[in-house]
Amino acid sequence: MSRKPIIAGNWKMNLVRSEAEKVFEGVKEFVNDYTAQQLPTIVIAPVFTSISAVRTVKCNCGCGGNKISIAGQNCHWEKSGAYTGEISVEMLADAGCDYVIIGHSERRQYFAETDEMINKKAKAILAGGLIPIICCGETLEQREAGITDKWISGQIKAALEGISSEDVAKSVIAYEPIWAIGTGKTCDSDEANRVIAMIRSVVKEVAGAEAADAIRILYGGSVKPSTIAEQMSKSDIDGALVGGASLKAESFNEIIANTMKVACNV
Ligand code: PEP
Repeated sequence: MSRKPIIAGNWKMNLVRSEAEKVFEGVKEFVNDYTAQQLPTIVIAPVFTSISAVRTVKCNCGCGGNKISIAGQNCHWEKSGAYTGEISVEMLADAGCDYVIIGHSERRQYFAETDEMINKKAKAILAGGLIPIICCGETLEQREAGITDKWISGQIKAALEGISSEDVAKSVIAYEPIWAIGTGKTCDSDEANRVIAMIRSVVKEVAGAEAADAIRILYGGSVKPSTIAEQMSKSDIDGALVGGASLKAESFNEIIANTMKVACNV
């Protein structure tokens, strides 16, 4: 099956509204020359207060697709209530989001998010009609101890627990080795592809072959314009979750353009 590539920009806690608008306008200008079918799925995840500055860009060719979609960087699994500082799936949908990033290593590390919470969030996102981008990844210590595959397969099984095969098929997973995030060190693309193929086999085990074939699995960790073409040429890498290089339209656009050269029908 051919899976449509995804390039997702995670802006983390960066860019106030005016800055967000500037980067968004730069990406919008780039996508202007293409249809949604020619582009990878492009997702931007701004801070909540900048979501309204970076709206979804619909394709005008009549295909009904989006050229740019928006993601929340987190959500709560409850619909509403006394959860100060949190945001619900319905609120993100209301603000124009189609995706929600969950389980990012920074949220696991600094905000004590557990696999169980990530599973509840994934279920709430899917029930609300949005798509979860579920992050997983190992620390350098875990890699050096030789437990990368065991650790990641545990994270994936826990995140997908009790989710129907149909919902798993439309979800997105991002493999992000923690030692490669924001460090400038990318994971060797053959090794990233190997881990991603292993994740796909775990998805097959828990949700069946069709879901494993359909689910899009991204690589994340210091992705740059100079690394993306090789990463996208690998059999199981379906796109990238990009942090630092998504904060400037020039580098994000270059990542999209280089993806299109190897993985889109332009
Ligand atoms: C991320 O935070 O998801 C990420 C991959 O960041 P960076 O590209 O900066 O390593």
